Amino acid sequence: MYICGITPYDATHLGHAATYLSFDLIHRYQRASGKKVVFLENVTDIDDPLFERANRDGVEWRGLSLDQIELFQSDMTQLRILPPYELSLVTEKIQDIADLVERFIAVGATYSLDGDRYLDSSQFTDFSELPLALEQSIGLFAERGGDPTRLGKRHPLDPLLWRKSRQGEPSWTTIFGDGRPGWHIECNAISSSLVKEGLNSSISLQGGGKDLAFPHHYMTALQGSVLSEGAFANHYVHSGMIHYQGEKMSKSLGNLVFVSQLIKDGVNPLTIRLALLLNHYRQDRSWSLDLLKEAEELEADLSSALSRELVPDYSHLIEKIISALSQDLDTPKVFSEIRSWLKDIENKVASVSPGGFSRSLDTLLGLTF
Ligand code: ZN
Repeated sequence: MYICGITPYDATHLGHAATYLSFDLIHRYQRASGKKVVFLENVTDIDDPLFERANRDGVEWRGLSLDQIELFQSDMTQLRILPPYELSLVTEKIQDIADLVERFIAVGATYSLDGDRYLDSSQFTDFSELPLALEQSIGLFAERGGDPTRLGKRHPLDPLLWRKSRQGEPSWTTIFGDGRPGWHIECNAISSSLVKEGLNSSISLQGGGKDLAFPHHYMTALQGSVLSEGAFANHYVHSGMIHYQGEKMSKSLGNLVFVSQLIKDGVNPLTIRLALLLNHYRQDRSWSLDLLKEAEELEADLSSALSRELVPDYSHLIEKIISALSQDLDTPKVFSEIRSWLKDIENKVASVSPGGFSRSLDTLLGLTF
């Protein structure tokens, strides 16, 4: 399972938290069903927005990045998100990325434009499978870090593989020129460097927020087809966006809510986790004080039930939770089942210790009481 990670300059707002929480549920479900999961995640610690933020704030980009990675990891720990097998920083994988670009060059899959190296996409696709019409896709590509209008490109959607070194930007030496990697190629190289270690022959799942579906995951899949016949990933999973005060939570709108700030304000991280699980991961959904309150109430009811010596039998409830999770992580169904069990608790015979239910909530949902 390969999850596309953060660019470390604005970690960790609730949109990030919701995304990594979705994949944590998949991770937990797979492990609970007895599978061995190799979960990889990258950190895009070379990227224009990171350099822009460092320049704006007059700080060194590497220091900013390391501070934000530390904060991200602390937030993930507080939210009880199981850590990846490896959290790979792009700056630690430059050699793997350069090796992959070199292999692309060797098979004639690239072209150079003033020293910048692009994939010659038309050799591998006719772009008939774009998620949107060509013009719209080009627009989205431009919005999300692409450079479709650059003169001399063979196709507007050709992704940049290697950017020639520029004044004020970090740069690494390779046999095809000094510079730094493009965005999408990092995930191809990082995943294949780990596949090379014999962990697996391919990726079962590539995931991220739904804004990564295009161009990022589209381009990693396209680049994955350059040297291999097989699909880059067998499944692509995308989580919905988090809205706040009626708008998508985003840095440009300035309406970010940070996990670390909520925790500083005294919100229990478990309540944040529970609040984000109440709605379905694939839906765009809103964060609000009402949602937080709803989570707090449910948390209090669960805590109170689980602190009893004996509770009504919950074996069917656990089966229903597993069944709902198996249906594309249907967490609204999970909590509706839990609520019905809680509602009936006074009217049923209390016959079993609640410990097994507590452990199931922890194993499957990462909730501890
Ligand atoms: Zn990625």
